[in-house]
Amino acid sequence: MDLPVLAVIYDFDKTLSPDDMQAQGYIQSVGYDVADFWREANGLAIENDMDGNLAYMYKMVKEAEGNLVLTRRALAEYGAKVELYHGVDTWFDRINAYGKEHGIAVEHYIISSGLREMIEGTAIAKKFTRIYASSFYFNERGVAVWPAQTVNFTSKTQFLFRIEKGVMEVNDPAVNEHFPPDQLRVPFRNMVYIGDSDTDVPCMKLVSARGGHAIGVYDPRREDKRKVHKMLRDGRIRYFCPADFGEGTELEQLLKSIVEATEAREILEEKHRADIADLG
Ligand SMILES: [Mg+2]
Repeated sequence: MDLPVLAVIYDFDKTLSPDDMQAQGYIQSVGYDVADFWREANGLAIENDMDGNLAYMYKMVKEAEGNLVLTRRALAEYGAKVELYHGVDTWFDRINAYGKEHGIAVEHYIISSGLREMIEGTAIAKKFTRIYASSFYFNERGVAVWPAQTVNFTSKTQFLFRIEKGVMEVNDPAVNEHFPPDQLRVPFRNMVYIGDSDTDVPCMKLVSARGGHAIGVYDPRREDKRKVHKMLRDGRIRYFCPADFGEGTELEQLLKSIVEATEAREILEEKHRADIADLG
C-alpha cells in the first residue's frame, strides 16, 4: 500500500538561503550595487503597474546585454554559488529517513518567486519532487528572452492545490477539477509550509486554515524576529524557528514532531475510512 505523503514546501530566498539568489553573483556581474538593482527593478514595476517579478526579469535580461550571455547554463552556474543555510545539504535525507521510520513518505517542494533555472543549479535541486518558480523562455540560441512563468505571492497558492490533487504540471487544467476528499494525494493537513516573509503569507494562511503546519524562519545570524512575530500575531504561522537546518536543531525537532503527529493522524484517518467502507 502507498504510504501517506507529508509534503514539506519551502520558499527559497531567505528561507533556505540567507539572501536573494540574484544578489549572490548575477547582480554584481552586471556591475550593479545590489540595493540599486532592486530599487530600479521595483521602480520599473511601480511606474508601469508591472508585476514585480516581470520587472526584475526584464531588468535581468536588459542588464545582461553587453555584460554576459544569459543562458540556462549561466543561470545554473549562479545558482551553484548560492549559499545555503547551515544543515540544508543533509536536511532532506534526515527528514526522509525519519518519515520512513514512521510510515510516512516525505516529499519536498519549492515554491519561489526566484528563478527555477538558478535553483536547478544548486546542489540540493534533486531533493525536490517539484520546483515551482519563475522561469525564462530561452530562444533557439539558448538565451533568455522572455518570462515563461512568474510566481508571485498570490500565484504561489495555486501550487498548493497542484500538490494537494497530484496535478503537478504547471499547465494542467485538471487542477480546477473537483476531487473527493479521499482522492486527494496530499490533503492540506499533511502539508508543511516554511517561509520567511510577506510573499509567503497567502500560502501560510491557506495551509494553516486548512489544518496544515505553517512555520516562519528567521536568519540565525541576525536574530531579528520582527517578521516572524508579526506573522504569528496575525495568525499566519503557528511556529517560528531560526533557519538552522542542522542536526538536533529546533527546526529539525519541530519537523520530527509533525511527522509523529501525521503518523498518529493517519491511523485515525484509516480507521475512519474503514468505518465508512463498512456502511456498504
Ligand atoms: Mg523568502
